This record gives sequence, C-alpha cells and structure tokens, in this order.
Amino acid sequence: MYAEVIVDVAAYPIDRPFDYSVPVSFRALIESGSRVKVPFGNRQVLGFVTALKSETDVPAEKQKSIGELLDIEPVLTREMLALTKWMKRHTLCYEIDALQVMLPSALRAKYEKVLRIVNKNAELPPSIQALFQQKESVELKADESNEVLSTIKRLVKEDILSLETAVKQKTAVKKVRMVQVNADSTHLNTVYDNISNQAKKQKDVVKWMLDHAGTRIVSTDLLKLLNITNAVLQEVIKKGAATFEMEEVYRDPYANRTIDISSKLALTNEQQVALSEILHAYDAHEAKTFLLHGITGSGKTEVYLQAIERAILDGKEAIVLVPEISLTPQMTNRFKERFGAHVAVLHSGLSTGEKYDEWRKIKRGEVKVVVGARSAIFAPFQNIGLIILDEEHEATYKQDDTPRYHARDIAIWRSEYYHCPVILGSATPSLESYARAKKGNYGLLTLAERPKKQALPEVSIIDMREQLKNGNRSMFSLELAEAIQIRLDKQEQMVLFLNRRGHSSFVLCRDCGTVVECKNCDISMTYHRHQERIKCHYCGEESQVPTLCPQCNSEHIRFFGTGTQKVQEELARLFPAARVLRMDVDTTRKKGAHEQLLQQFGEGKADILLGTQMIAKGLDFPNITLVGVLSADTTLHLADFRAAEKTFQLLTQVSGRAGRHDKEGKVIVQTYTPEHYAIQFAQNHDFVPFYNQEMMNRKQYAYPPFTYVVLIQFTHEDVLMTAEYAHKAANWLRENLSDTTDIIGPSASSISRVQNRYRYQCLIKYKQEPTLPEVLQQLTRMYRTDWMKKGLLMSIDLNPSSIM
Ligand code: ADP
Ligand code: ZN
Ligand code: ZN
Repeated sequence: MYAEVIVDVAAYPIDRPFDYSVPVSFRALIESGSRVKVPFGNRQVLGFVTALKSETDVPAEKQKSIGELLDIEPVLTREMLALTKWMKRHTLCYEIDALQVMLPSALRAKYEKVLRIVNKNAELPPSIQALFQQKESVELKADESNEVLSTIKRLVKEDILSLETAVKQKTAVKKVRMVQVNADSTHLNTVYDNISNQAKKQKDVVKWMLDHAGTRIVSTDLLKLLNITNAVLQEVIKKGAATFEMEEVYRDPYANRTIDISSKLALTNEQQVALSEILHAYDAHEAKTFLLHGITGSGKTEVYLQAIERAILDGKEAIVLVPEISLTPQMTNRFKERFGAHVAVLHSGLSTGEKYDEWRKIKRGEVKVVVGARSAIFAPFQNIGLIILDEEHEATYKQDDTPRYHARDIAIWRSEYYHCPVILGSATPSLESYARAKKGNYGLLTLAERPKKQALPEVSIIDMREQLKNGNRSMFSLELAEAIQIRLDKQEQMVLFLNRRGHSSFVLCRDCGTVVECKNCDISMTYHRHQERIKCHYCGEESQVPTLCPQCNSEHIRFFGTGTQKVQEELARLFPAARVLRMDVDTTRKKGAHEQLLQQFGEGKADILLGTQMIAKGLDFPNITLVGVLSADTTLHLADFRAAEKTFQLLTQVSGRAGRHDKEGKVIVQTYTPEHYAIQFAQNHDFVPFYNQEMMNRKQYAYPPFTYVVLIQFTHEDVLMTAEYAHKAANWLRENLSDTTDIIGPSASSISRVQNRYRYQCLIKYKQEPTLPEVLQQLTRMYRTDWMKKGLLMSIDLNPSSIM
C-alpha cells in the first residue's frame, strides 16, 4: 500500500504528491486527510495524505515509508482535499499552503497523541488494558501493533475510548482536576471506619462521600464545598475513598458572560419574502447564491437568524462570516442570544488553544453554527445547510497573502458541494455582486425599509473649503461644532469618524514642503504624538522627530494631518465637559479592548465615540443621534479603481450608525470635494443610482465587473532588476494571452519601495481567457525555477481587493 503525501515544504519542485509506502502497522488506519510524519531529504516533516493506492512508479530501492501516523481520524475531509486542488488552481498557491490554511494553527504545531477512556463501564480487551495500566489516559506511541491500533480505532468509533491530538506547548487541551468518588459504599464504609477519630476533617469528607458515592466533582469545588484543605483531600484519596482524574474542558471565551436568549421576531413583509425565497432554495437543495441588499438597520440579521434556525431544526449546520469579528461583538452576541451553546465563535482575538477548542467542537458536530472572520469559511462541518457572508463587500474577505483566496468564492464552492444556498448580505454590495444579481446569476433580495419604518438619518455635506475661506481653520466646521454642543446639552451620544485610510499624520517642512520619508521605503513616516517619535508603518523603522528640516534646515518642521489623538485634544479644547472615548489601533491593542470600549459607550459612560474605520460597522446603540465624518475625501484619492466605491460604502456604513432606534439621527459629512458623486449619492443613501454611475465609469475604463483583473507584483533590491523582470513577465504574458486581453504596465507601484525593495507591478485585464490558469502557472514555474534564484519576488493576485 502506498500513500500520496503533500509535504510541508513550500517550494516549486516539491509542490506535488510524493509516494510513500505505508508500513503494515498503519494500513488499517491510514486515510486520506490524515497527517503523517515522513522522511524528506535528511529530515522528518509533516505531510498530508491525499490519496492511497496499491502501486507506485517509484523503484523499490528508492521507496521511503511513512514514519508516523498522526491522526486516527483524518483532520481533513475529502471535501477539503478537493477544495485544496481548486484553490491551488485558482489562487496559484502551493498545495501545502492551501492544506494548512484550513486547519487551526494548533494542528500545525507540535503534537502528542493521547488515548483516553471515555466509557468507564465498558470492558476493555486485555491488550488495551495493558496499554492503560490502571491509568485513565496514556500517550499513544507510534510503535503499537496493527492489531492494537485497529482495536483502538473500533473502540474510538464506539465512544469507549477517545484519541486526541494533544498539542504540546501552552495550547494543549485544557484539563481540570476532578475528584471521582468511589462508587462502592461498602468500601467507603471500611475507609471511614479505619480513619482515627482524631482526624475529624477526614471523617467528614468520607462521610460526605458516602452520601455521594460515585459522584464526580471538580476538585477545587469540593474543597470549597466542604471547606477543607487540599492536604485533607489528599489523605482521603490515599486511603482509596476517591481518585483524582484529569478531565478535558473547553476554554470558553464567553464563559463569564450571561447571555439572554432572544426569541424570533415577527418578520416584516420584505423580510418574509426574502426568507421564503432563501428557504425555497434551501428546501430544493439548490446551490443558489442570494444577494440580500438591505439598507442599514433593515433587519438582514433577523433574516439570517431565521434561515439558520431552519437549518438547525433539520440537523444541518450554518457558517456565518463577518468582516472583522472583534469589531462587531454586538453582531456575534445576537447569534449567541438566539442559538446559545449551538454557536462557536472563531476569530483572531482567540488564543491558539481557544481556537483549537472551537475547531474541535465544530469537527465533532457539537455546535451547529460558526460565526467567524474570513478563515471560518473552512469550518470543518460536514452537513452544511447555509452559508452567510455579512457585509459581503468588505475587502477583509480577501486574504492578501498566499493563499490569496476570497471567502465568497470558497463559500460558493462549498455550497455547490453541499447543495445549499449562500446569502451575501450588504447595504452597499460590491459592484461585482450587484452586477451578478442584476444579471440573474445571484438571486436579488431587497429590504428597502427599516422594520419600524425609522427614517434613514438626514445627511448634511459641509464644504470645508468654504469654512477655510470664512476663517475657520479648525477641523470642526461650525455646523458640526454646533451639532455636537446640542447633543451634549441633550445628553445624547455621538460618533465621530476619522477616515484615515491612505492618510496619516506626517512631518512636513512648512518652508520647503519636504515630507519626512522612511529611508527604506518611499512612504512618509507617521507621527506618533505620545512618544514624540516618527515610525514607518511598512518596515517598522522609527526615529526622533527632526527639529530641523533635513532638506533646508528650516526650524518650521512639524507634523501635519489629523490623527485621532489630535482630534481628541481639539475636542477637549472646544468641549471641555465632553467625555470622549477614543477607539483606534493604539487604544485597542489589548485583547478584548474593543469590546470593553463599546460596552462603556453602550452604558452611557461617554458622550462621544471617536474612532477610525473600526467604528464604521456593526454599532447599534439607541442613544446615538449624531454621526460626524471629519473628512470624507481620504479614500477618494487612492490610486485604485475602487476608490469611489470604497468611499461610498464607508459613508453609507457610518451614516447607518445614527438613529437606528426611536430617536432621530443626523449625519454631518465634512469634505473638500462635495461635488463628487460618491459623496452626493451617499448623502441620499442612494445605492442604485451610485451603482449606475459607477458602472458607467467602470465600463468606460474597462474595469471590473466588466473585466477581470489580475495584479502581478515584482520586488527586488535592485531597481533595474525589478524593472527588467517586470518587463520580461509582461512581454511573456502579451505573447501568451489573447489579443483582447490588456496587459497594463509594468510600472512602479504607488508605494514604489518597501523595506529597501523596489516594487513594480503589472495588471492583466481580461474578459475571457480560458487558458489563464495554465499561463499563470507557467509564469509561476519560470519564476520559481529561475527568477526567484536571482532574488526576485513575484506575487500574483487574481481579483485583487486593491491595486495599489
Ligand atoms: P441590519 O443587519 O440590516 O443592519 P438588524 O438586523 O441589525 O439590521 O436590525 C436592525 C434593528 O431592527 C435591530 O434592533 C433588530 O432587532 C430590529 N428588527 C429586525 N427585524 C425586526 C422585525 N421584524 N421587527 C421588529 N424589529 C426588528
Ligand atoms: Zn525644509
Ligand atoms: Zn519603512
């Protein structure tokens, strides 16, 4: 018997399965999707079995055999193995990268196999008893005989034993010490009688045990309950009244929270229509994708919840993706509130151990719903009934590192595998998705009203150029300042939003206009006020703020631009009584900080929530009646064809934070380009007119969704080499792709140097290019076998979320 194994070495010539012979001892157990340890070159590496077969082309003298089988239950299903092949072809990644991305990091780390008795009443065969030698759990060694291993496999299937891959390091399966009281009361009586009357405490304990023969209780709980010391308990245990046992528990990030169970709401007509269309496809086992386009606060989440409820009732599972889960605790809680312990939460804020525990709950089918960020799309469910992507337009669904997959594509792939619907939800759908819905490729569902008919907030656009002309040099327009004062007087809350993407506070010479740039990267250094230092956000370089201009020696060098800290200071000056909470990368570094800040705000402990992008979504507080956008323009000027779309989305999302409940909301948007259509349409929350206008522009310049785009980036320490290879690649692509395909560039990237590496890029724009995967694969091959050795790095990003 032979196994095809993908080994944990990401390099071109190795990106294929290698044949290994399967030792007799593993034959009954090994399956596709199991992890193995195999010799590779002169070392041992982790590998994944992707197929089993009875013959190999490898000559006998060259054959190597599998060193160790790490899983009795494969960690990857057949579905996942098939998905890997698809990812390899469509994202041009190494197969090993695709395999690894599906697993929690704990399974990529160190491991040991632990065998445990689950059912204590079952009679174990002698060979297995010998293994345990009275113990409750043992490490399973690789050298057990085939017979023993088959027996173990059977007993695991029968739930008599459990076999876990326990992770060494800190992230091991978490255990608590339990006291298992002897079930035999005659025996307990004897123990009781043998304890001398002086040892009163011990007698008390055994007396309690007599009343609770056979009980199992957490050791520390028992100490508390009986008010005894550990020493007393130890004595009693020594005498045989009970035993200590370690029991596996899950780390529960939600343990200390009480969550009320919510019941389902009576749907509005629009919600009802949407739900029944989804359930219709669900009942028909149709792999249909729906775009649920609903204005902010229109009750999309309630539709998700009720659709999921149906899947759960049928014993099926649901995956819910949210853009960045630590930013949206309110959203997560709504799933917990509805489905309680059926919900697992996967997000980047969890420790490796917590993630591993959630993953195991999913794999074992102990939960039915997963709520998580991008990588949760790989949740190892095996009976999926529904997949949901909330805020489907968000760029975070695309992984910008290899494997460069989009969660939406994986969702649709899995829905085809399970014949179940996908729901893409958004108030501001991506142009691609809306275009597909209009063409009928997706089902279009619309929620045009809020459930209680609350009006969308009124949006005022303030022209900041006028403010300046009238002598107002503050970052607050008169209108915004006045609106803030009114809310403070009425004790209502507000959100101030600073759009900082592609924009930061930099140090500028007022005399010659020099901006202090990083010496490794062609990008301005960011000013950090609290440390009085400047830092490069690309390479980490940092230094003192210069006191003299490096160019002209002027002393008039100081920082420029607006950071949240600066806004906070300005607020303190203008509204000394206002209580301000600041939420940005600096104040949310600590685990759970987002949630804490939001909770404080929800409890009314602050008047103003001031923040960056991270406060744009998910916030839902009844007392927010004002949203202020300090400068709408910064995303507009990105060198990216999605700049207008991103601006429109951001403005619409932040506006949606105001007036979601009974109180009316108002939005004030400050801008230097009030005439821009993205800002104009956002003022009226007009997605469809925005879509039409933006589609005209995209059509004119042949950008997606009218074409597909591939971004290829080249970096090298030598600028000439960078340009040379970029040209080589572009020319090669021109020769090998059809005439209707555009190859734009190569040209220097908009950030033309990072960490001393020069950056060039070229863009492929195509409508139809059936051989593209093969052509790109061939390019990749040239790169991996030759160019890479010359120090070039090349990356290929299909459907990039940004082309900067
Ligand atoms: P979205 O996800 O579209 O932004 P939500 O699902 O958060 O909207 O709904 C906004 C508010 O409306 C929430 O407070 C929610 O509880 C409430 N809501 C949703 N559906 C209904 C309904 N059918 N009846 C009453 N209230 C509803
Ligand atoms: Zn100067
Ligand atoms: Zn730098």
